[in-house]
Amino acid sequence: MFEKVLIANRGEIALRIHRACHEMGIKTVAVHSEADADAMHVRLADESICIGPAPSTESYLNIPRIIAAAEVSGADAIHPGYGFLSENAEFADIIAQHDITFIGPKAEHIRTMGDKIMAKETVKKLGIPVVPGSDGGITDMDKAVKIAEKIGYPVIVKAAAGGGGRGMKVVQSADKLVASVQACKTEAKAAFGDDAVYIEKFLGTPRHIEFQILGDGQGNAIHLGERDCSLQRRHQKVLEEAPSPALTHEQRMETGGIVAKAMADMGYIGAGTIEFLYENGEFYFIEMNTRLQVEHPVTEMITGVDLVREQIRVAAGQKLTLKQEDIEFRGHAIECRINAEDPLTFAPSPGAITDYHPPGGLDVRCDSALYSGYRVPPHYDSMIGKLIVRGSDRAGCIRRLRRSLEEYVIGGIKTSIPLHQMLLDQPDFVEGNYNIHWLEKFLEDLNKQD
Ligand code: ADP
Repeated sequence: MFEKVLIANRGEIALRIHRACHEMGIKTVAVHSEADADAMHVRLADESICIGPAPSTESYLNIPRIIAAAEVSGADAIHPGYGFLSENAEFADIIAQHDITFIGPKAEHIRTMGDKIMAKETVKKLGIPVVPGSDGGITDMDKAVKIAEKIGYPVIVKAAAGGGGRGMKVVQSADKLVASVQACKTEAKAAFGDDAVYIEKFLGTPRHIEFQILGDGQGNAIHLGERDCSLQRRHQKVLEEAPSPALTHEQRMETGGIVAKAMADMGYIGAGTIEFLYENGEFYFIEMNTRLQVEHPVTEMITGVDLVREQIRVAAGQKLTLKQEDIEFRGHAIECRINAEDPLTFAPSPGAITDYHPPGGLDVRCDSALYSGYRVPPHYDSMIGKLIVRGSDRAGCIRRLRRSLEEYVIGGIKTSIPLHQMLLDQPDFVEGNYNIHWLEKFLEDLNKQD
């Protein structure tokens, strides 16, 4: 097992990784920007190293500085968390060249899944259902027109290198197709340096349902069920839950089984998420994230499995000791992402935290790096915490979440807590009756009322 892990991240996820390491008897090294000198992860880690100024490109995204910090501190492994360098295959390669272990999958798997065309081809071959569309990139416009006609309008043109909800265009009719493909290519080239695009059927009212998997690269992989992340604004997840209110246990085990088998066949190491759109009882693969997800705690809450501990174990070369039959799903969990922003306009609200009191009690988990007197810096993502609550069933979970949000005090800045409180009172949400467009529509209606 590793003796010392460098955590190449900040905020709540850096703390989350630190906690798993210390429970395993592993020492931690925090790296931080100048803006994060007072951050909680820096305070709790065994060692800390400043790796540069506030902008991420000069600190949390700066590979040479992170490698230098690992060498100076003698860390034998690096955990990338999520975001930043977590899906950067070059980073994984460079770490390996320095005889340090990357706590994540093989670089080749990060590379394959990072290219949406390759990812789709790969998982299709492994038996995972995909959205109907062009097999591979669009090279010839006549062919594109034929494919779109065959799958039927509306279609969506997507950049192979796209991410974060960027590089996509919905096309309603044949007369707009050629212009949209060309525009998407130009934008993709400018944004991602790669103009490969592909076409797929545009699904009108899907849910976003993703499966959590764990593999050891030694022939074993399991799934830990799904998360429903359909409540999104501008393709950013706002609230996630497990299990999905839309699935039966049979559907969970069937698709989970397909996904786990595919990952075992691929020799995948570590934690990963296979994202699907789900409509009319069918699953359609959209992408795979080769890392830990922000919303991983909802899975942990209902399965009792520590996903970060498992990531570390398999990265150290150990086999998965968990078997599929060991995974039991108990009750229901919901996560609210707490952002430092105005709950209605979404304008960022960084600044000093004057009071901090997280909620507590049975089955209430608060993953946050905030403390009273901390200053939320303006340089990074606005997510400052996650409140995750479990109940023995969905209704009980919602009741406990309402109570917990009521208790949560974050003074001095605006947060998204009031938005979550509003959401929990919506009949559609209470009934589990929502898809990926629901939240945008709800916010639109709210603005009209003002
Ligand atoms: P990104 O990597 O940018 O997050 P995804 O492929 O995961 O891109 O898609 C992001 C979101 O775009 C999905 O959650 C969904 O809302 C929408 N989307 C993507 N593909 C389709 C599709 N074929 N039909 C309908 N919506 C889609």
